[in-house]
Amino acid sequence: MKVGIIGTGYVGLPTGVGLAELGNNVICIDREPKKIEALKAGKITLYEEGLEELFHKNVKAGRLHFTTSMEEGVSDADLVIIAVGTPPHPITKEADMKYIHAAATELAEYLKGYTVIATKSTVPVGTGDDIEALISKKNPFVSFDVISLPEFLREGFAVYDFFHPDRIIVGADTERARNVIKELYKPFADKTKILFVKRRSSETIKYASNAFLAMKIHYINEMANFCEATGADITEVAQGMGLDTRIGNRFLNPGPGYGGSCFPKDTLAMSYMARQNNVEMTLINAAIAGNAKRKQQMAERILNAVKDIEKPKIAILGLAFKNGTDDCRESPAMEIIGHLLEHNANIIAYDPKAMGTACQLLGDKIGYADNMYATLQGADVLAVLTEWQEFKTLDLAQASRLMRHKIIIDCRNLINRDEAYKNGFKYQGIGHKEQEKLNELRQVA
Ligand code: NAD
Repeated sequence: MKVGIIGTGYVGLPTGVGLAELGNNVICIDREPKKIEALKAGKITLYEEGLEELFHKNVKAGRLHFTTSMEEGVSDADLVIIAVGTPPHPITKEADMKYIHAAATELAEYLKGYTVIATKSTVPVGTGDDIEALISKKNPFVSFDVISLPEFLREGFAVYDFFHPDRIIVGADTERARNVIKELYKPFADKTKILFVKRRSSETIKYASNAFLAMKIHYINEMANFCEATGADITEVAQGMGLDTRIGNRFLNPGPGYGGSCFPKDTLAMSYMARQNNVEMTLINAAIAGNAKRKQQMAERILNAVKDIEKPKIAILGLAFKNGTDDCRESPAMEIIGHLLEHNANIIAYDPKAMGTACQLLGDKIGYADNMYATLQGADVLAVLTEWQEFKTLDLAQASRLMRHKIIIDCRNLINRDEAYKNGFKYQGIGHKEQEKLNELRQVA
C-alpha cells in the first residue's frame, strides 16, 4: 500500500518506519526542512530503541522516503496519516487544532483517486467532521474518507509497541475505509484485536484512555503521600494492589507526577471538552490540580533537604519525562528544575539520552555532566527524577566519597534504600517514611 504520513515526530516517524517494515511504500512529509534534510541524509531525528536500525534497513530497501512536499507525499497515496502535533492552546488549554487544520487544508488539493485520511494525532471529538468539511470545501469532487486511528504507542517503547499493539482502534464510518485499514493491519490480524467503532467513539477512546492512566498515576502518588504519613510502604502497597487483576500492576509506580507530551495536554483537553458539553469531570480535574501540586512538592522536598546549607549544589539524575526517550516536553524534571532555579539553585544534571533536548530548553541555566558521577562532585544533594535503569547501578560508596553532603531525594525509588543507609546517606524516596522518622514512630508505638 502507498502511505503518506504527515508529521515526522515521535508518532509519525516510528509509524512510518514500522509501516515500511511491514512492506508498505511509505513517504514521510514534514514541513521542517531541517528534519527532512537530516532524514534524507540518513540521520535519525529522535531517539527510540531499535528505530535507527529499522530506519536504515527500510531506506535501503527503497520503502521509506522523505519529503517536504505535500504534493509528492499525498497525490499517489492510498492512505494518508495525519500525525502532527495538537499542543494545548496557550490560554484555554483546549487542543490547538492549527496544525491539523493546516495539514488538512494543504493535503486537500493534491488528492486524486479515492484516499483514506486517517488521523493519528490525538484530536477532540468531532475533528473528523471538521477535516472532512475542510477537504470537501477545497476539493469538492474528490473521493475520500476521513477516519480516526488513534495512536497508543508509549515513548521509549515506540518500536516494540508498533509491532505488538494491545489493540488497534479504528473509527471509520464506511466499509470502504474499514477495508483499507484491514488490509494495512493484516499482518496483525491473528494476534491483535482490531476494534472498529464510530469515528467519534474512537476520538473519545484516546482521551478517555490517557485521562484514565493519568488519574491512575495521580492516585498512586496520593497513596504514596498516605504511606509517608502512616509508615506503610507504597512499594508493598502497589504490589498488593497490582495483584488484583481488576486493577493490574501497571501505572502503579509513584513518582514526581505525570508528564510528557500527552497526559498533561490530554487531561486538560478532556476537561475543556467536558466543560464545553456541560459535563462534570471531577476525577480528571482533581488529577490535573494534584499533578501540578506534586511537582511543586517534589521541588520543595529537594530544597528542604538542603535548607541549612549555604549555596547548595544540587545534582540531578534524569531530565527526560520518562526513561527510554530524549523527550523533555512537560517533563516533571524540567518543572522541578524550574522551581529550583526560582530559588537560585546551583544545578548540575545528567541524562543518558536527553542532554541535547534539555539543553534546548534550559540553556546555560544549569550545568551538564557527562555521566552520573560527574554530577556528584561536591554536591550537597542528589535528586533522582527520571526512572532510567542505569541510575540503579550508581555505586553509592563512590557517590558518598564524591558528595559534600550525603543526601539523596529519590523521586523514582530507584536507589537501593538499605545500601544508601549503609553508606551513610540521608535517603528519602517516595511513599515510605524516612528511616529516622520510622524509628521515631516505632519508639512511640
Ligand atoms: P511532534 O511535535 O513530535 O511531531 C509533529 C510533527 O509534525 C513535527 O515534526 C512538525 O514539524 C510536523 N508538522 C506540523 N504541521 C505540519 C504540516 N502541516 N505539514 C507537515 N508536517 C507538519 O508530535 P508527536 O509527539 O509525534 O505527536 C503527534 C500527535 O500524536 C499529537 O496529537 C499527540 O498528542 C499524538 N500522540 C503522541 C504520542 C507520543 O507519545 N508522542 C502518543 C500518542 C499520540
